Amino acid sequence: MKPTNIHPVFHQILTRADKEKFLNQRACVIWMTGLSGSGKTTIARNIELELNRRGHLTQVLDGDNIRTGINNNLGFTEEDRIENIRRIAEVSKLFVHCGIICINSFISPTREIRNMARNIIGEEDFIEVHINAPLEVCEQRDVKGLYKKAREGKIKNFTGIDAPFETPEKPAIELKTGELSIPQCVEQAMEVLGPRVSYVGDE
Ligand code: ADP
Repeated sequence: MKPTNIHPVFHQILTRADKEKFLNQRACVIWMTGLSGSGKTTIARNIELELNRRGHLTQVLDGDNIRTGINNNLGFTEEDRIENIRRIAEVSKLFVHCGIICINSFISPTREIRNMARNIIGEEDFIEVHINAPLEVCEQRDVKGLYKKAREGKIKNFTGIDAPFETPEKPAIELKTGELSIPQCVEQAMEVLGPRVSYVGDE
């Protein structure tokens, strides 16, 4: 027997525009790239707090919630690093299509890997933020003791020591965390991010 109440499925699907209107914001991915210890996690969390204070809904993605969850089957071979970033970009895209501002904090050291993320997410929605502190500053901080291990040869292919970090060519935002305080960095970032995430309505 034929069902009588068939409606085309698109009548039931809320669009990204519907969700952005509901949330009163424009979604994007804020992609933090930089050396270990440069301040990606710190800045991501502080930007999230500031956006939240201004009424925005955000999601931070970082090693803590990605490498222990969806990517817990990936290691650090070249192939796995690419797959790690590919999945992160795909997950970010889902958040963006839900109207949510996604703040990502991953070293993502090569232009190729960042371009892959940009291509998956889409140029319009990909806000590249270079968290830029000199290697000496990051090594001095050595938040997780990883530089010491890398210098001792206990960690191989460590970005900045025996693996390259390719400086972003045209980041939307560059934050010099070695020179500016955390609040100053957040303020500088918000000058670009504030207008970018503000809802502009149906134009
Ligand atoms: P990453 O996520 O890039 O590995 P973290 O955010 O974990 O870096 O560590 C950066 C460290 O540098 C933190 O201990 C933080 O308090 C310190 N720090 C000092 N000044 C700044 C700044 N302006 N921006 C960000 N972090 C800073």
